[in-house]
Amino acid sequence: ILMAKMEHQSSPTPHVLIFPLPVQGHVTPMLHLAELLCLAHLQTIPDDWPPQNRPRPQASNVNIMKILKAMVEGMAPRAEPLIRELLFGTTETDKVTCFIIDGWLSFAYDLAKEAEVPVIAFRCSSACGNWSYFCIPQLIEAGEVPFKDMYALILTGNKYAYVQKLHYSENEEMDRIVCNVLGMESFLRYRDLPSFCRGKDKSSCDDLRQYFMREVQQTKQAQFLILNTFEDLEGPILSQIRSQCSQVYPIGPLHAHLKYRLGKEETPLSNNSSSSLWEVDKSCTSWLDLKPDKSVIYVSFGSTTTFTADQLMELWAGLVQSKKYFLWVVRPNIIASSLDGPIPEDLLEGTKKRGYKVKWAPQDEVLAHRAIGGFLTHSGWNSTLESIIAGVPMLCWPYFSDQQVNSRFVSQVWGIGLDMKDTCDRSIVEKMINEVMDEKKEELCRSMDNISQAAKRSIAEGGSSYSNLNHLIDEIQAMSK
Ligand code: UDP
Repeated sequence: ILMAKMEHQSSPTPHVLIFPLPVQGHVTPMLHLAELLCLAHLQTIPDDWPPQNRPRPQASNVNIMKILKAMVEGMAPRAEPLIRELLFGTTETDKVTCFIIDGWLSFAYDLAKEAEVPVIAFRCSSACGNWSYFCIPQLIEAGEVPFKDMYALILTGNKYAYVQKLHYSENEEMDRIVCNVLGMESFLRYRDLPSFCRGKDKSSCDDLRQYFMREVQQTKQAQFLILNTFEDLEGPILSQIRSQCSQVYPIGPLHAHLKYRLGKEETPLSNNSSSSLWEVDKSCTSWLDLKPDKSVIYVSFGSTTTFTADQLMELWAGLVQSKKYFLWVVRPNIIASSLDGPIPEDLLEGTKKRGYKVKWAPQDEVLAHRAIGGFLTHSGWNSTLESIIAGVPMLCWPYFSDQQVNSRFVSQVWGIGLDMKDTCDRSIVEKMINEVMDEKKEELCRSMDNISQAAKRSIAEGGSSYSNLNHLIDEIQAMSK
């Protein structure tokens, strides 16, 4: 929980209470937002959740949704007294002006209501991901969701079981176009819907769907909705969201927006804080310094993706077979089970020659490095925006949540990457890395340059995200009067 005191010329000083879901992809953009709002005086309060009580991830994207749901449910009773103290226990001068709540933490809305503090929702996903969540009730009503999930096998079992099980007709079924997500009727396939639309285990998936549907619908109660995106990228989808939520503020890409404004500030932030929940290994930048321009593929799947041992071996073999240099983030908990048997000699050899592994990279810096030519990513929204700002084309292997939708937009709508979803086979990994780095490089880079320029324009003075943030600050300022 963060308390941000905005420094502003006029008094009284507004105080914004900010409540992010404690996972990397949510903490980072919300901290950026906090810094942008206030040039920052932040108080952090530990969530008081002992590590031994945290659920262990397993290699299934349904499972990770369950873990997040359990995390939120576990957090609620712990966070409530802290939030109460901040909302109710403050003096007149320290009064909270508004409460910016992560879109996944809707239980906090009731507390804000009780304290009569206005709520601003911050949803960390893309507009396209959010809009697909908004449409789940229509999809259920039309019978498009839930659908059979033959791909549950690739996520819970091994690749060979998946290959044997998959029939051509089932594959075709997953390629069918979804009709009930307005604005995406011509290209959104069943396989591109958020992960919790899938699932053999019908009852638990129903439960998850209901849960996330409720969370999303709560957003409509908020006075404003902040999104980490920009008009030129997701304008048509933002219009769809505006049909249901009146005051929508796209102010992203936040990481670049913050840098831009700090660059213009005469006095930089006093406590230039890092939002990283992991220890960053910067040694990889000296390794990159020795490589030719655009010769390295950066491989990272964010903070929560997990692999089965088989998937990891397929990916690894594909990387080595591609004969490209690769910088690979292998978090200690990236596989749910241990590898059985020794690692083949050719993988070890190939990695020694062309690879470099770290547990956690300075991603923003890495993507901006001249040696990086492509990004093999899980299509997390922060990673996608960071790639856009750096102008690096992507190869997408989405894992859960909005990532399935994001990767479809990256490949089909924006043309800034390729989508490898629902496969994990060494020969496909090899082939698609070569497409991104060589054969399709030019066309991907052309589209990426355009979008990257548009992103930078949006956060510069006079750009849409720049102006939207100024309006939002004015609104918050007005609330404190
Ligand atoms: N990240 C990083 N170093 C790494 C891997 C990831 O700094 O080695 C950061 C990345 O820059 C991004 C965040 O972690 O800001 C991941 O967020 P994203 O939304 O892409 O994925 P999530 O972790 O939420 O699945």
